[in-house]
Order: sequence, then C-alpha cells, then structure tokens
Amino acid sequence: MTVTQLDPIALACDLIRKPSVTPADLGALDVVERALKDLGFQVKRYRFEDIDNLYARHGTKSPNFCFAGHTDVVPTGDLTQWSVDPFEAALRDGFLIGRGAADMKGGIAAFISATARYLTRNPNPKGSISFLITGDEEGLALHGTKRLLEAITAEGERLDHCLVGEPTNPNALGDMIKNGRRGSLNCTIQVTGVQGHVAYPHKACNPIRALIGLLSTLQNHCLDEGVEGFQPSNLEVVTLDVGNPATNVIPERATARLNIRFNTAHSGASLTNWLQDQASQTERLYGAKIELNIHVSGEAFFTQPGLLTQIVQDACETVTGRRPELSTTGGTSDARFIKDYCPVCEFGLVGATMHQINERVQTRDIEILSQIYEAVLECYFKLA
Ligand SMILES: [Zn+2]
Repeated sequence: MTVTQLDPIALACDLIRKPSVTPADLGALDVVERALKDLGFQVKRYRFEDIDNLYARHGTKSPNFCFAGHTDVVPTGDLTQWSVDPFEAALRDGFLIGRGAADMKGGIAAFISATARYLTRNPNPKGSISFLITGDEEGLALHGTKRLLEAITAEGERLDHCLVGEPTNPNALGDMIKNGRRGSLNCTIQVTGVQGHVAYPHKACNPIRALIGLLSTLQNHCLDEGVEGFQPSNLEVVTLDVGNPATNVIPERATARLNIRFNTAHSGASLTNWLQDQASQTERLYGAKIELNIHVSGEAFFTQPGLLTQIVQDACETVTGRRPELSTTGGTSDARFIKDYCPVCEFGLVGATMHQINERVQTRDIEILSQIYEAVLECYFKLA
C-alpha cells in the first residue's frame, strides 16, 4: 500500500488531473485501477464503444458491498471564468478546486481511502468489497453502468448492497441521503394542419389550436398528489415553436416539447400510453395530425428505508453528529440502473458547485466523507 491510497486528497488531485470529460477517460480509471490493485483487488476493465469502465472486487465471499460512481466529468465551460486551471487540482484556502472535485472524483477518492484503511485493520472481511466505476454517467449513459452491470452479472457477479458516491448534500455533509429518484420522460409533439389565409379559416386547419388544446389538457391533469417518499409528479412544457413570420398565414405546423418528472405512481410506459391517448383524442377533436416522439431517460425508483439507509445514516451520525434525511429530490443518476440488481442509495460530498465554474469542495469534507465510508464498511460487515 502506498501513502496515496490512504490520503483521499492526494487521490482526488490525481483524478482531477486527468481531464476525463465524457466520453474521454485519459487515464482517470488507471488511477483507480492502480490504487485498487495495490489493495489486493481483482480489477477488470470493460470497454463498450468509446467508453471505459471498471469493475473490481476484493474477496470472494458474500455479501458483496459495492461502491459505485463515475470518473467522467462535464465540460469546463468558459475557461476564462475559472480562477484556476480546472484540471490542475488547485488547493486554496481549505478548498480543492477543479472539474469533478464534487461530482464525483472527490467521492471516489474517499471510497478508496476508506477501503484502504478498513482493509488495513480487517484484512479478511466477512464478505467482499467491490467497485463499479463508469466513464459514461454525465453523457448518454448508454455504455456505462447499465452495460457494465449486464456484463458482470453474465459473469456470475452479484451485488448485495450498493452505495453511490454522488454529491447528495445540498449545503453541508450530513444533510441528505438519496434513496430514490424520480423518473424523467421527454416528449416532442408535432402537430400538422393545413396552411391557409387567416381570413379563410374554413379552408385551413390551424395546428396551433390543436396544440394549445392538447397542452392545456396535459398540464391541467393532476398526475398524482405524491406517493411514499416522493413529491407529486410534474409536467412542464419547455418550448413551443411555430416560427411563423407572417401575420396573415395560418401555419402548417406547430411543435412543442415537454418533460415529465415522475414518481413511482407511474412508469415510462404508463405515461407514454396516457400521452398517446390524449393525442388521439385531440386529433379527433381538431382534425389535425399529431405525432409524438417520446424518450424515457430514466424510470423512477425507491429503496425502502432499511439496512442500507440505516447503516449510512448511522455512519454519518457517528462521524459528524448529524443524521442525514432520506430524500428522492433532484435529477436522475446511475442508481436508476443499479436498483434492478440490489438495494441502492446515494451519499457523497456537498454538491452546491457541481457542474459549475470553479467547482470545489472543502478538503476537510473529503476526509470526513472517507471516515463515513469507512464506518459504513465497519457497520455493514458487522451486521450483514
Ligand atoms: Zn455525478
């Protein structure tokens, strides 16, 4: 074992210095691989299309506790607005500044150093520790966690519990664990009517009437009033486009796009059916042709509070004195794929600056998070 593995800050710096903007890896997973190999992990790399992924396991016994996350990062944005080079891993006034510091190279460094310390004290845990690390979380997520899980499962691997290290705390370490996420559906609506003169509407069919009628029905419908662990689902129209430069022409076409964030009262399929039904009724009512293009980017999921959430809450409270609340707010994450394999929850750094210019975390927080993860391992192998 080297000093680096025990020092999460040095590890986080090493990771940030690899500018792994999705889909590039540029050596980020090599840092993880080297550190885990030194700790006695069996490490395997998986390349799917242009994406590098990694699965590593220490031990062969059950249960298998998995740390999951990603080494890819979002683009820097306007470089002139950064106060430091985003890939230099600058340490300033107690902060580590750089792209990925919060989301989530700092979290991965904390995973590794926690594991290193735990294994030093417990060389033969009662089960296995594994790492599931992808390079495709910030992108389309087509060749990352989803395929990696399929591949390792086909090889006989089984995860029993999984902790994702996304930055889940809004303001301070100990605020929040995510034990579920809402699903997300995008829909493009294209209405085609018949173009004509505004003074002769009987000779035309205005697609905007049908579109307004449909959108009004959709957004006035109450999807639900919230279910266990979740706020109500919501539908938001995000754009309406006609682009008609004339004042005296009924246009032929009108389009709109909407997004639905939904809880476990719905599925992508049930919402797709509902949207298609409403579109058919509107077509009959207005005589215009309506085409829907629907993409479900993630299903909703909920991990019942239980062993896993309690261990993470207890570990956090032991280390920080603060007991994080369970929440299902925010966007989607790769936990949406993991939930099909084992109970999963998410807990990581403070996410206030994720994806922003000058993304940063307190170095102290990375150290404390590493202690929390170590306490999670301690507690897990005592109870499981
Ligand atoms: Zn992330």
